[in-house]
Amino acid sequence: MSKQRLQANEQGHLVLGGVDATRLAQEYGTPLVVYDVAAIRRQIQEFRAAFTRSGLRYQISYASKAFATVAMYQVIDEEGLHADVVSGGELYTALQAGFPVRDLSFHGNNKSLAELEMAVENHVGVIVLDNFHEIELLKRVLVDRNASCDVMLRVTPGITAHTHRYTQTGQVDSKFGFDVDSGQATRALQKVLAIPQMNVIGLHAHIGSQIFDVTGFDLLVKKLMTISAQWRDRLGFTPRILNLGGGFGIAYTATDDPLTPADFIQPIAARLRQLADRYQLPLPEVWIEPGRAIVGPAGYNLYTVGSRKDIPDLTTYLSVDGGMGDNIRPALYQAKYAAVLANKMNEPTHETVHLTGKYCESGDILIDQLALSRNEPGDLIAVLDTGAYGYSMASNYNRNPRPAVVFVEDGQAKVVVRRETYADLVRLDVRYE
Ligand SMILES: *Cc1c(COP(=O)(O)O)cnc(C)c1O
Repeated sequence: MSKQRLQANEQGHLVLGGVDATRLAQEYGTPLVVYDVAAIRRQIQEFRAAFTRSGLRYQISYASKAFATVAMYQVIDEEGLHADVVSGGELYTALQAGFPVRDLSFHGNNKSLAELEMAVENHVGVIVLDNFHEIELLKRVLVDRNASCDVMLRVTPGITAHTHRYTQTGQVDSKFGFDVDSGQATRALQKVLAIPQMNVIGLHAHIGSQIFDVTGFDLLVKKLMTISAQWRDRLGFTPRILNLGGGFGIAYTATDDPLTPADFIQPIAARLRQLADRYQLPLPEVWIEPGRAIVGPAGYNLYTVGSRKDIPDLTTYLSVDGGMGDNIRPALYQAKYAAVLANKMNEPTHETVHLTGKYCESGDILIDQLALSRNEPGDLIAVLDTGAYGYSMASNYNRNPRPAVVFVEDGQAKVVVRRETYADLVRLDVRYE
């Protein structure tokens, strides 16, 4: 989100979903995580519109690890999307939300026996097989229950996305999926085709995250269509669905220049049509799994300004009442963010500070260089675009309670996750005696 798109009222206060951010801070306290629900819905509509124009059959599956709570699954359901889950806990949350279980895909590189049992017993729509161990486990679960299920094979296409090493997943040297080039993927397919309880509906690949160009997806489509043609010729099998994963980048700072959904989907559709024609393959249905692109720009972390340390002739540390416990990304992989002084939106820039958290780690710096107007303790900071992998990675480090989460839409605010209390922090602790 560019700062220019932010709204302020006459008092110079940031307005989110029609609600004054200072009112949110007063009512619900800080640190506070706020989602502008209309922004989530708009982004989903953009993906839909791009697919509609492309003429492809498609499915959009929200990668819920980006932000998974009961209310979020409800919104995704209202919008008619599918969702990905990667753990028993995400599956449980989706079930609690009443999310249609047929519309769930279950991912993960080390699903446990208990998780696979839970998925099968609840009739999860698709299990995305990642490795040979899992094929055996799932087979056992299905045979024991006299059940069957739809599966996809996750393949590692040998494509390196141009992004941070920790968010690359498609290169040969990856912990995820069956490697294509060494023949592993073909062996896995042969194995699964011989198991009558498993119905292979498609192939899955995910090349990485925070991707800003279409090259990686283009290479991926070429690879998947090539192996589809090979498998048809050698094994008589053609995948009906190609799941291209997620990774659509968003703008965290002014230097990020993301593509729109149409910028990705148009060239993908063109390439698919060309290759379907060349290899005489049916045009596959395309699934994508955006996480960050759906929730990232819709999220804001609100903090109250506290102490400051001015080091003469050197720098200033300005501290807020949250930090790496509610947003680990800057400490984990040097993620960059923009922020504004949410109660003084119209004042000129006065200084540049290190915006730092309250946690006992020198690396707990939310923004390394933040230009701010004149400020004092009690002012409100809004860090922008925090909706993806922020709250979902939150921790209780230093025994700080995790913040509340509020959804704002049409001038209304609703708490969708309550703030943790100190009592919550010791809820699972057991006295040693
Ligand atoms: C994390 C992940 C996604 C979502 O990635 P984003 O960058 O949030 O879009 C999609 N698919 C799989 C398999 C993932 O692991």
